[in-house]
Amino acid sequence: MNVAFFANAAYIVAALLFILSLAGLSNHESARSGLRFGIVGMTIALVATIWLTLTNLWAESQAVLGIAILVGAILIGAAIGLWRARVVEMTGMPELIALLHSFVGLAAVLIGWNGALYAEDIAPELVGIHHAEVFIGVFIGAVTFTGSIVAFLKLSARISSKPLMLPGKNGLNIAALVLFVAFTVWYVITPELWLLVAVTALALLLGWHLVASIGGGDMPVVISMLNSYSGWAAAAAGFLLNNDLLIVTGALVGSSGAYLSYIMCRAMNRSFISVITGGFGIEKPTAKGEEEVGEYRETDAQAVAELLSSADTVIITPGYGMAVAQAQYPVAELTSQLRAKGVNVRFGIHPVAGRLPGHMNVLLAEAKVPYDIVLEMDEVNDDFEETSVVLVIGANDTCNPAAAEDPSSPIAGMPVLKVWEADNVVVFKRSMASGYAGVQNPLFFRENAAMLFGDAKQRVEDIIRAL
Ligand code: NDP
Repeated sequence: MNVAFFANAAYIVAALLFILSLAGLSNHESARSGLRFGIVGMTIALVATIWLTLTNLWAESQAVLGIAILVGAILIGAAIGLWRARVVEMTGMPELIALLHSFVGLAAVLIGWNGALYAEDIAPELVGIHHAEVFIGVFIGAVTFTGSIVAFLKLSARISSKPLMLPGKNGLNIAALVLFVAFTVWYVITPELWLLVAVTALALLLGWHLVASIGGGDMPVVISMLNSYSGWAAAAAGFLLNNDLLIVTGALVGSSGAYLSYIMCRAMNRSFISVITGGFGIEKPTAKGEEEVGEYRETDAQAVAELLSSADTVIITPGYGMAVAQAQYPVAELTSQLRAKGVNVRFGIHPVAGRLPGHMNVLLAEAKVPYDIVLEMDEVNDDFEETSVVLVIGANDTCNPAAAEDPSSPIAGMPVLKVWEADNVVVFKRSMASGYAGVQNPLFFRENAAMLFGDAKQRVEDIIRAL
C-alpha cells in the first residue's frame, strides 16, 4: 500500500466530514458541531495532500527546492490567514469573504494555465477533454476572480454600490458567453495560446461586468452566487489536478452556494436567472430616491423609555447599523429588562439585514438573545399592525415602504418589514443618510415615526438608564 492509497482514503473521510459539516450548519443548535466537522475534515485533507505532495516531490530531481517552495508558501499563507481572521471586525467579514473567493478564482486560473502549458502524459484520446477542462477552469476562475474583486470594492464602500448600467449590457453578457463557447470548441480542435489569452481576458471582463451591473438590494445574492462560482472553479481545478477531494468539495460549495442564492432570490422576490446573468432584464429605475420627502420628527432616549414603559408589544428590527455600533449587547439587556416588566418583545429579522446572510442572527446569538423570540420576516410581518412600538435599530433598506409602494423605486418589489403599520416607530441612526441601496426612506417622514439620532449602542444604553 502506498501513500496515494492512504491519501485517497483520507479524502473520502474528509468529504464525508464536509457533508456532515454542511448538515450541521443548517441550524443554530448544531452549527458549532458543524464547524468542528469542517475543521477536522479540512485538517485531514490538508495533512493528506501535503504528505502526498512531499512524497511525490521527494522522488524528483529538484526535491529540496520544491519542498522549500511548498513549505514556504504554506507558512506565508497560513500566517496571513491567521492574522486576518484574528483582526477582522464582524462588519468587515463580507468583504473579507469576497476577497477570499477571489483567491479561489485566481488559483483556478493559474492551475488552468499551468495545465495548458505544462501538461504531460495525457492519453491521446483524452487530449480534447483536457483542453476543454483547461478552458472551463480558466473561464470560471477568471469570472470569479474579477467578480469577487468588484464585490469586495462595493462591500467595503471603495466604489459605489449602485448598479452599472452600460447600454446593451444584456447583449454584452450574451456575446461574451457565445464567444466563450466558440473559443472553447476552437481550442479543443486547435489549442493555440492566443485563444487561452483571449478567453482569460474575456472572462476577467465578464466577471467585472456581471457584478458591477448588480447593485443595492441584490448584492447579498451576488455574494452567495460568487461563493457558488468559487466552488465550481475549485471543482474545475480538481479535474485538472486529478484530485477527487477538490472535485467533491468544489461541487459541495458550488451547489450549496447556488441553492442559497436561489433561496435568497425567492426571499427577495428577484429572478434567479436575472441575478446570475448580471441583472438580465432589470430596467434602470426611474426614481432617484435619494431626496428627503417631507418633515421628520426627532425624539430622545427619555421619551423612548417612557413609550416603552407603557407598551405591551415591542418588535425590534435590527440592521447593519446594529453591527456597526456593536449594539447587540445593550439591545439584549434592554430586551431582558422589558420582558421582566411583562412586555412582549420579539425580533423581526429580514433575510438580507446586515451584510451577510444570517448576520443579525449571529449577533443576537452572540449577545444571548433567546432564539424563540428571534423571528423571520414572514413570521412577524403580519403582526406589526397590533404592535405598540417598533425599534428600528440601524436598519434602513430592509424596512423601506418605497419597496412595497413605489414601483419606480430602485428597490421596488423587494419584500420588506412592514414596520410602519405599528402604532409607534423609533428609528435609531446617526443621520438622514440613505442605507446600502442608496435610496431615501419615506418611513422616516411618517407621522407615527420618530428619529433617535446617534450611535445605536449609546442610544440604547441611554434608554436602559432612563428606564
Ligand atoms: P442598511 O445598510 O440599509 O442601513 C443601515 C443603516 O444603519 C444606515 O442607514 C446607517 O445610517 C445606520 N447606521 C450605521 N452605523 C450606525 C451606528 N453606529 N449607529 C446607528 N445607526 C447606524 O441596512 P439594512 O440592514 O436595513 O439593509 C441591508 C442592506 O445591505 C440591504 O440593501 C441589503 O441588500 C444589503 N446587503 C446585504 C447583504 C446580506 O447578505 N445581508 C450583503 C450585501 C448587501 P446612518 O449612517 O445615518 O447612521
